[in-house]
Amino acid sequence: MVVLSAPLGPAVCANDAKALEFIEEMTTDCDSVQTRVLGEILGRNGDTEYLRQFRLEGATDRDTFKAKVPVVTYEDLQPLIQRIANGDRSPILSSHPISEFLTSSGTSAGERKLMPTIHEELDRRQKLYSLLMPVMNLYVPGMDTGKGLYFLFIKAETRISGLVARPVLTSYYKSEHFKNRPYDPYNVYTSPNEAILCADSYQSMYTQMLCGLIMREEVLRVGAVFASGLLRAIRFLQLNWKELALDISTGNLNPKVTDSAIKDRMGKILEPNPELAEVITKECSKENWERIITRIWPKTKYLDVIVTGAMAQYIPTLEYYSGGLPMACTMYASSECYFGLNLNPMCKPSDVSYTIMPNMAYFEFMPHDADSPATSREAPPHLVDLADVQVGKEYELVITTYAGLCRYRVGDILKVTGFYNSAPQFRFIRRKNVLLSIDSDKTDEAELQNAIENASLLLKEVDTSVVEYTSFADTTTIPGHYVIYWELLVKDPANSPSHEVLNKCCLAMEEKLNSVYRQGRVADHSIAPLEIRIVKNGTFEELMDYAISRGASINQYKVPRCVTFTPIMELLDSRVVSRHFSPAEPFWTPERCHN
Ligand code: AMP
Repeated sequence: MVVLSAPLGPAVCANDAKALEFIEEMTTDCDSVQTRVLGEILGRNGDTEYLRQFRLEGATDRDTFKAKVPVVTYEDLQPLIQRIANGDRSPILSSHPISEFLTSSGTSAGERKLMPTIHEELDRRQKLYSLLMPVMNLYVPGMDTGKGLYFLFIKAETRISGLVARPVLTSYYKSEHFKNRPYDPYNVYTSPNEAILCADSYQSMYTQMLCGLIMREEVLRVGAVFASGLLRAIRFLQLNWKELALDISTGNLNPKVTDSAIKDRMGKILEPNPELAEVITKECSKENWERIITRIWPKTKYLDVIVTGAMAQYIPTLEYYSGGLPMACTMYASSECYFGLNLNPMCKPSDVSYTIMPNMAYFEFMPHDADSPATSREAPPHLVDLADVQVGKEYELVITTYAGLCRYRVGDILKVTGFYNSAPQFRFIRRKNVLLSIDSDKTDEAELQNAIENASLLLKEVDTSVVEYTSFADTTTIPGHYVIYWELLVKDPANSPSHEVLNKCCLAMEEKLNSVYRQGRVADHSIAPLEIRIVKNGTFEELMDYAISRGASINQYKVPRCVTFTPIMELLDSRVVSRHFSPAEPFWTPERCHN
């Protein structure tokens, strides 16, 4: 077992010392923290409708809990969550009142999963956030001498039976915890709250970029939550630098920014600065945008973005734009629960491990064997406690939260890489069942199949069908887009599907993809129009021949529904006969379709 038990290091200030002590305390005996956490959760939620059915009879110990309470998925809890959504305020999952719904980027029946949460969870999330800079300060000195340029956004929210429903970050940015955070010299942002809290994504981005440019000499770190968000900001600069430079040169805010709170705030920040406008114009008008981040923000020490999991596909592009600056993946979190942080944030992306903080929830781990099929309900696997996981093994994360999820499968597969004190550290391996992802969208195989079937209806009219298909997430352009390869069977060559019909097929597919995808297309503009590439007849047979030549068994060969291996993509692309793009945006509204 690898044990990294060296104390984290000398803190730069009293606040940091307290945070680092807290990390030491939580990781020194994580098992006893977990006993306490489970005791607290069962002590308060034991009498909820959900837990009462398992007859814990007041027991708050692990053995009874594990023996009596089943491991569940979102779908198992969905009927109960639906009752809360229908207005039932009795203690169904939690004894504390439900304060709002968090809408996850994971979907169920095409809509974001609804996670009922309680007010005090904000404190727990805030606590985890408060640990990030003290850890960073151990590795990067002088962060109190400048600012962070972070592109942070809120998303649309809706109301469900009187409760607000919104993504967890929107909830956090709109909370008093964030809006009225005390001044901390190590954590000063260039973006004013007014810009972060503006629901119009264009005005928000424009203002955040403008402030970042105005304060370019002070910026020490550049970030967004996910890598895709930071690349979107760079693309925005590419498209809008002339207008931004004009504002800086004249001191007048672009009239497209109409939000009154932003206008008031910018009135105090924006002044004519023709020299600065000239610097920006000089850098941005160059054909070559390599190292643009360090050219515009010369003091940047690192990028603060998540590049683990699905976001790893963006590492080469970020390296290009930043000239190879370190990329710090600081935390691992979800709508259901914030899990932990990276205690070595300056490490290479491929070495990132997250240390789960045992105070956040009660954590269990379902052994995951990538080669064996999903475990049946009859023989539930033995779940392992946080302190008992083994280095080198993979597990699916299972959580029991203060807000009332009990033994809930998150769907993330993690691999144990070592320990800090007694707390294990995990590499994020992947999220289960995700085929395609550009931003926070997660499309699985069944959703893709469903989308293909919807588009196929249009082909039927011209007596054509899809013989085979596969897909990939094309992130060579910003924003990225889904590419679907189709091999068609055209029954009547004189009546083959027209370019227009195939374009419409792209839209027909998008209409059937989940609401997170459609929100990315319509509201966030984080995903570009879906593309269908028609390949020559016989291409998928060639694909099979290629796989068999590389050792695949002919009997067991299945067409991969998503491809990432370069030679296969090259083969497919060399057989493309036509390309088609979605001609319009799919339908999307913040309201849920299935309440
Ligand atoms: P959401 O519920 O929409 O907030 O999405 C949470 C999910 O995002 C997690 O369960 C992970 O699959 C993924 N995620 C969050 N943080 C990270 C991270 N640091 N690295 C990789 N994936 C992450």
